[in-house]
Amino acid sequence: MNSKQRDPVDLGMKIQVDATAMQKLWLWTGLAQGEVSALGLVDEIRNEDTGAIVTLKVTDFFLVKQTCSEADTDLDPEAIAQLMIELEASGIDTSRLRCWAHSHGSMGAFWSGTDNETIVGLANGEWLLSLVVDKKRETMMRLDQFHPVHLYLEDVVWEVSYPAVEGLEEQCRKEFKAKVTEGYQAIKLTKLSTTEELHRQEQLPQLGIMPDDLDEDLWWQGVDPDDLEEHQPF
Ligand SMILES: [Zn+2]
Repeated sequence: MNSKQRDPVDLGMKIQVDATAMQKLWLWTGLAQGEVSALGLVDEIRNEDTGAIVTLKVTDFFLVKQTCSEADTDLDPEAIAQLMIELEASGIDTSRLRCWAHSHGSMGAFWSGTDNETIVGLANGEWLLSLVVDKKRETMMRLDQFHPVHLYLEDVVWEVSYPAVEGLEEQCRKEFKAKVTEGYQAIKLTKLSTTEELHRQEQLPQLGIMPDDLDEDLWWQGVDPDDLEEHQPF
């Protein structure tokens, strides 16, 4: 069922799940004998200039009353309503409740017919993120859009978002520079995917590699050294 080659779609915006929220989901997944569901709050993070969404970030997951088996997870509609009342009472806009996460227990991460029906049942007229996981920590993230027609991407690129720890980046950079000698030539010969290449370009200044060291490498990467200025954190 899960044997086909995976090729998650990179949406050109980030899909993130907060590390603590993800940890909660893994704990519930570990506790459940079979399936278990949670609902998540999602923040739309927009580009200040264009207003375009740059990141969809799941900030928390909530467990609601549900009946589960090895192959099923049914959320109690009254419990969902109760969660919404509680969220509103604490000043949280319930339209942010836009992620359905569930575990398949030991059954692998894939979208079943029942999952498709659940997602259609959660349709909100805009969009919904869904995350399916299993006990082996397989995962698949899906994005549904309900307007003007129902479309979805069943396997999109996503990542865990770790909280910023003050001073950690500087500490890691110093330690890295002091202890790591890189065989840079070897890295250059490795073929990177577009995503990895873009990611590496973003990371270069943070690794303490200055454009002066890089002109040749930038040529290899097809990057204009002037374009790197905006990435300079110094
Ligand atoms: Zn499922």
